[in-house]
Amino acid sequence: MTVEMIFVGTELLLGNIVNTNAAYLSEKCAAMGLSCYFQTVVGDNAERLSLVLKTAMKRADIILLSGGLGPTEDDLTKETAAKVCGKKLVMHEISKQAIQEYFAKKGITPTDNNWKQAMLPEGCIVLDNHNGTAPGVIIETDKTKVVLLPGPPNELCPMFEESVIPYFEKLTEQVICSQTVKICGVGESQAETMIKDMIDTQTNPTIATYAKTGEVHIRVTAAAEDKKAAQKLIKPVVKELKNRFGNSIYTTDDSITLEQAVVDLVKANEFTIACAESCTGGLVAARLVNVPGVSEVFKYGVTTYSNKAKRKVLGIKKPVLQKHSAVSYQVAEEMAEGIADFAKADVALSVTGLAGPDGEGDKPAGLVYIGCCVKGETVVEEYHFSGNRRKIRESATAAALILARRCLLEYMSKVTFGK
Ligand code: ATP
Ligand code: MG
Repeated sequence: MTVEMIFVGTELLLGNIVNTNAAYLSEKCAAMGLSCYFQTVVGDNAERLSLVLKTAMKRADIILLSGGLGPTEDDLTKETAAKVCGKKLVMHEISKQAIQEYFAKKGITPTDNNWKQAMLPEGCIVLDNHNGTAPGVIIETDKTKVVLLPGPPNELCPMFEESVIPYFEKLTEQVICSQTVKICGVGESQAETMIKDMIDTQTNPTIATYAKTGEVHIRVTAAAEDKKAAQKLIKPVVKELKNRFGNSIYTTDDSITLEQAVVDLVKANEFTIACAESCTGGLVAARLVNVPGVSEVFKYGVTTYSNKAKRKVLGIKKPVLQKHSAVSYQVAEEMAEGIADFAKADVALSVTGLAGPDGEGDKPAGLVYIGCCVKGETVVEEYHFSGNRRKIRESATAAALILARRCLLEYMSKVTFGK
């Protein structure tokens, strides 16, 4: 089955907002095995939207539209779609009531144009909106299903998950399940090479790789008559991925992030963690704090940006900084040991590097040293990241978490096997 997407909004065309709905819907549809060949962004203009929709309806089974369902003059998606599909707009009493209740709860009196949102194409399927007033709509024509979704992502995403996915599953008479294998410390092209044979011969389940900063996610998706059968198809593929990637896999659970995996390892050892950051300026601490319950183990996150801070807080001696400069193996090592000592933490991370755009002397932008001290034993790695300042800082942050994970695993294997 093919799907085509139309994103409505002049704001999108002008670059005032980023089309995050496109990324979200594309990823969701790909995970469900729906093929998408075309996506269009069109302004708030009935004539042009009509043209785009008619074109899409000629070549796809399902059309997904986002935006323009609101109460204002420029919101014309529903009116236009109804016209193209040859449907009249009629008052939908349940939606009218829902709008009434929504406003009553907020203590606001609705304006006349709010009722416009309860005017829906005759015979359509209505999708509840628990986060706003505009209901979603599915118009079924002989050949095509036209799905209208609200623009705000906090309305579109839950509606898609609660109502549209089950609708698609019914349509295809199949349940689609997926599982994500998350890998760190392996580049995307290397990961793809390692599973090229699996990708080349894939049918059901399908295998797709997604590159994230410092990570590669491999999504395995199966379609079957029920959930159990789909999971049965996924299981051997995930097992094979585990064989190939081993310890580089930090989770096979969609909801676990890299920082969560690190915090879980810290907790499993009944350890505490601290970090001292220079060029990442708190990003490592921020990622650790993403994890609920991290307060049990996270003791200190300090940004020691200046040399003075490195000396005063971390106790690094002036001659060390003078001899090696702040961006060096030695300083990363002493930063990690300094914060471990200061915080009395079992695990300590340090990051020092050049985020750019300029380098310093013979040190290029992107050169970063990351230290990790676990129970007094310190490892320092040198990295060369590319990209702009933001990208370099994000890459360094991910690398710090990956190094923490590696050092913790090494520590655990030593303890277990007495190596
Ligand atoms: P509303 O009832 O808020 O007017 P709507 O369904 O009419 O919702 P739009 O008016 O098109 O949607 O967009 C409202 C807001 O939703 C935009 O200002 C923007 O913040 C967000 N939005 C719209 N389309 C997208 C998109 N494709 N990606 C991300 N955000 C979007
Ligand atoms: Mg609007």
